[in-house]
Amino acid sequence: MKSYLEHLNEAQRKAVVETEGPALIIAGAGSGKTRVLTYRIAHLISQGVPPWSILALTFTNKAAREIKERISHIVGQELAAKIWMGTFHSIFARILRMEAEHINFPGTFTIYDTTDAKSLINSILKNMKLNKEKAYKPGTILGRISSAKNDLLVPAAYAQDAKRSMADAAANIPMMPEIYERYVRECRKAGAMDFDDLLLYTNILFRDHPEVLANYQERFRYILVDEYQDTNFSQYLIIRKLAGKHKNICVVGDDAQSIYSFRGARIENILNFRNDYPDYKLFKLEQNYRSTQTIVNAANSVIEKNTGQIRKKVFSQNDEGAKITVIQAHSDVDEGFIVANHINEMRLRHRYQFQDFAILYRTNAQSRIFEEALRKKNIPYKIYGGLSFYQRKEIKDILAYLRLAVNPHDNEALKRVINYPARGIGKTTLDKLEALANHYNVSLWNVLTNPGLPQAGFHSGTVKKLNAFTNLISGFISQVPNMSAFDITNEIASQSGILKELHQDKSHESQTRLENLEELFNAIREFSDNKEESGENNGLVDFLQEVSLLTDQDTEKPDDINKVTLMTIHSAKGLEFKTVYIVGIEEGLFPSAMASTSEAGLEEERRLFYVALTRAQERATLTFARSRYKFGELTFARPSRFLGEIDQSYLDISAGANSFDPANAFSSVSERSERKSFNLKRNNVSKPQFRFSEEKLKKQSASPSFHFSDHDSSSQIQPGVIVEHQRFGRGKVIQVEGEEPNIKATVDFTNAGKKQLLLKFAKLKII
Ligand code: ATP
Ligand code: MG
Repeated sequence: MKSYLEHLNEAQRKAVVETEGPALIIAGAGSGKTRVLTYRIAHLISQGVPPWSILALTFTNKAAREIKERISHIVGQELAAKIWMGTFHSIFARILRMEAEHINFPGTFTIYDTTDAKSLINSILKNMKLNKEKAYKPGTILGRISSAKNDLLVPAAYAQDAKRSMADAAANIPMMPEIYERYVRECRKAGAMDFDDLLLYTNILFRDHPEVLANYQERFRYILVDEYQDTNFSQYLIIRKLAGKHKNICVVGDDAQSIYSFRGARIENILNFRNDYPDYKLFKLEQNYRSTQTIVNAANSVIEKNTGQIRKKVFSQNDEGAKITVIQAHSDVDEGFIVANHINEMRLRHRYQFQDFAILYRTNAQSRIFEEALRKKNIPYKIYGGLSFYQRKEIKDILAYLRLAVNPHDNEALKRVINYPARGIGKTTLDKLEALANHYNVSLWNVLTNPGLPQAGFHSGTVKKLNAFTNLISGFISQVPNMSAFDITNEIASQSGILKELHQDKSHESQTRLENLEELFNAIREFSDNKEESGENNGLVDFLQEVSLLTDQDTEKPDDINKVTLMTIHSAKGLEFKTVYIVGIEEGLFPSAMASTSEAGLEEERRLFYVALTRAQERATLTFARSRYKFGELTFARPSRFLGEIDQSYLDISAGANSFDPANAFSSVSERSERKSFNLKRNNVSKPQFRFSEEKLKKQSASPSFHFSDHDSSSQIQPGVIVEHQRFGRGKVIQVEGEEPNIKATVDFTNAGKKQLLLKFAKLKII
């Protein structure tokens, strides 16, 4: 037997070596689905299948890199590098660039990110005089456009779609069809595609150009898709078309982990697969290799509550493992410290490294409190999602110039930098340019480079400034073919005046921005070094594409080793950690308030909970806070129903609160007063106010959640709360004493140190 096949169990091995024909691998978490996909590709290559005839689609770029890496250990780097492997978006962006002429786009088309898309919607709304109407929110509109595209509804079809018209009318946005139509038109004018367009236009390309489709059908003899349960209709169709000839299509997934329906993912794609390929082979993987028996069984006991699941057996032969710890915190801030302390405690007691821990939350907004607690405890961490490096202002500014250098019709990039650094081109001028562009139905660049511009009613001074800008960009455009991506970026940074601007400003922020620019240069150099065949655009187009298609999981920096991971549960898909904290397990947060209103919503939240729990290899800890600030208001929460749904024999409730001694947990003097709140919490736990019985929880969920907004905020200033002071900035309240009206608070300010303040004067704002 080939040695790599020894790393698989019998069921997995079958799924790897039976390479021909359609294959469906639907199996529970941690059962080796991704491993099977990896080995199947390695096996194909070692059987002599050329790597460029294999198309493998993953959910993140990071997953693609890791899978490739493992394959290269088996078949060697040279062959592994030639596999067509990546996310749907990056693979089909690459194909669309090669076939751009067929769909009337430039091969250098820009990819609009969400910010660009919203900005474009904003200008459309302005143009249609809808910008003052509250119902027309760019986010909502973009969501609807996205959903339409993923269902392959172009504007004309959208306008005919009765269900959508009714929904739009109900949401007070009856102008949706026209907005959508204009949006598509504007993107085309700008030579730009948004994320969903990458899939939509691939479908259009394959539909309208059978000869092109035939070419790719022939090329991709083997197609493999990981995380199949989260594909949308548009992705499903692409795959079906491409697999139409050879029918060697292997999809792996877990319906119990489908968590992206809000982005159009359809579990039905699994059912469709069975209909599309009636002679498919079904492979079952039942043994979970990732987690302890306790974790696997606990996760099973929750997901069983979902009615719409494909029945599966999942078992573990690993150790039984520790019970799942449940900890109640007094407040959200308290929760942060409890988790930070617990991590330190576990690290010492069980010799874990920082990288063995992950803190998973339902919403990005929860991350701040954990960041603060970890920082205070000197625990290194890395955080995924949120504002990535490439979304920082200074980086986006340079990227906008780079975008213009390869595609000057990119209106959003142009609007971003036409007056940055300031060159006296004001809003009135830009408005006028936009009006002209609209009137003649052309891009802003077309207007700017039109010989008739001086006669269009601008001051001669303005025309000069506009010409200077046009010349600057034209200069960059002409340099693109002769310069490396690195050199051109350098050129742009200096010629545009950005470097000068940052150097002149001696503020701390400017310093940081310069450092970030340096980091960007490094990234570009690294990218060019890794790409030998950089092609006619010196890799610039590829670089810009890669940057715009980064996913939340891809925001890791090179020095991110041995750190605690902070991420949303959505981003944690497919990953594993020795110890996992699932935090904020409260009604209204997880499950989210919105999801709780429908059975389908609840089932999706439950799947999300299943995903979270099954990330853990050895230990899982669930925490919830009794009170929490949401949108600046103090709210009181009940523990999540999911706690009640876990088979109680796998939980350790009291040990959770007692597993470390508060006297040791809080060592520094400044934190001694925190003990007060902590003791309170401990008392609560030793006299539990809730029982994890389902019945009680059900009753509780029937009563409306207690929620108040208190205008007299002094009563909310308690130890642990984070406040902001006009002069001292942010700090944490460590002690509150005295009687009304002379209540004093001791606050430890991040920058100003410890201060005692009289509340009636201090005007502390709760953050
Ligand atoms: P998820 O549903 O979370 O995506 P998965 O089904 O893709 O999980 P993998 O990530 O492939 O599962 O595997 C889970 C863990 O189990 C990995 O650490 C993997 O290396 C390990 N594993 C899988 N199969 C085996 C095996 N036969 N022997 C040893 N370890 C295995
Ligand atoms: Mg997987």
